Amino acid sequence: MAAAALGLAMGGPVAAETYDVAIVNGRVMDPQTGLDAVRNLGVARGSIARITSDAIEGKRVIDAKGLVVSPGFIDLHAHDLDPFTEKLHAQDGVTTALELENGAFPLERWYARRVGASPINFGASAAHGPIRAVAFGAVEADRLTGEGEADAKLVEGKSEWMEAPSTPAQRARMTALISSELDRGALGVGYHIATTPGADSGELTEFFGLAAKHGVANFIHMRSAEQAAPIDAAKETIAAAKAAGASVHLVHVNSSSLWETPQVLAEIDRAASNGVDVTTEAYPYTGAASSLDDPRAGPESMAAFRADYSDLELLATGERLTAASFARYKKLYPHGELVAHIMKQADVDAAIEHAGVMVASDGGAYYDGKGHPRSAGTFSRIFSRYVRERKTLSLMEAIAKVSYLPAKRLEAFVPEMKRRGRLQEGAVADITVFDPAKIQDRATYGDSALPSAGIAYVMVSGQFVVDRYAFVEGARPGQPIYSAARAK
Ligand SMILES: [Zn+2]
Repeated sequence: MAAAALGLAMGGPVAAETYDVAIVNGRVMDPQTGLDAVRNLGVARGSIARITSDAIEGKRVIDAKGLVVSPGFIDLHAHDLDPFTEKLHAQDGVTTALELENGAFPLERWYARRVGASPINFGASAAHGPIRAVAFGAVEADRLTGEGEADAKLVEGKSEWMEAPSTPAQRARMTALISSELDRGALGVGYHIATTPGADSGELTEFFGLAAKHGVANFIHMRSAEQAAPIDAAKETIAAAKAAGASVHLVHVNSSSLWETPQVLAEIDRAASNGVDVTTEAYPYTGAASSLDDPRAGPESMAAFRADYSDLELLATGERLTAASFARYKKLYPHGELVAHIMKQADVDAAIEHAGVMVASDGGAYYDGKGHPRSAGTFSRIFSRYVRERKTLSLMEAIAKVSYLPAKRLEAFVPEMKRRGRLQEGAVADITVFDPAKIQDRATYGDSALPSAGIAYVMVSGQFVVDRYAFVEGARPGQPIYSAARAK
């Protein structure tokens, strides 16, 4: 009425704004405010300009009747981000994929390769592991590319940097390197402590404290089952965070906690209610990624994981192994990929369904089109399995686990995240539109690169990367995500 009156006073009708894209008639869901209603959403200049029940105009109009309009999914745990994996992520509804567990070092090289080349947003933490290798003299910083796979080859055969405790001089060097990465905008500090068992509790506490001093969180793959009982590994990590006054996020609570998943979840809840800033995530699969040359696939480690050869599946054929076939294949294909079925479905379900637990894929590389199906199907699987089949999560709870909660985890030190994980006016137009009756993962262990179904549109900064259920080849709107320190 006010606008109409104003138009009359000016002697003519006021043209309503024509948005770049109008997504109309969709079920708009925003976990932060609880909005769950049919609304029209106007996108202009990469942002959400309007959410309204009034009719709106757009240069392009998407009729989302019967579809859910959700904040784009945010994956806190993704490895080997490249055109192949990013395409699968986008087709699974993901608009931001972050390498926070391992991190990337040197950060600048990792980001430089992706700026202007990525369909989805990307970012990484400062990498404790490679920085430890540099401090131990296992490799010179200049030779590292920032890509995990390539850089692992540079330290092949060297183990002191993983196994030995650090000296004060080595820690001083690590402090300098981590600090300079944080000053460049690294998204916290990432640790894979299972591969660097030489990093003791004292070292953890020291670097957790360094992260706290910089105002960022720590992301950690805690000690694994053959090194410590999962509950003890979780207690060690939480105690270090508490001692350092630091924030900590335990990655993949399902594969790290195994048969002690319920105890570890309870421990995290107890610590959080006592004021420790501790969170966790899970992926919805029972199989972990492994390989024939993985030291964890040996008989002793397997026993520690309460698993045996029959729990190992050769990815290429789907065959379950025996001691004899394991030895035979190891000779034939030393790096052959395995799926280690070390998790029980009930523990995975308990983790995904637990209040506050975020969803993150731990997705990674594909070799000849083969990898772990979690890289392609994690997010759709949350909706098909937990919302539709088991009915253990409401649609809104599931959307929160894949968008708002991950954004909230980061927003204290990543200003970009205050405008993501939300469908609100002023938010970045990172949007996933899906059919709640049809969203479904299709990737399997045998056919792991099948894109998910039921995802109609995915928009990154207002540009479509999935349009009418198909990936938009050549779309590269993905933005680098940095911490607040970058701007200073
Ligand atoms: Zn991990």
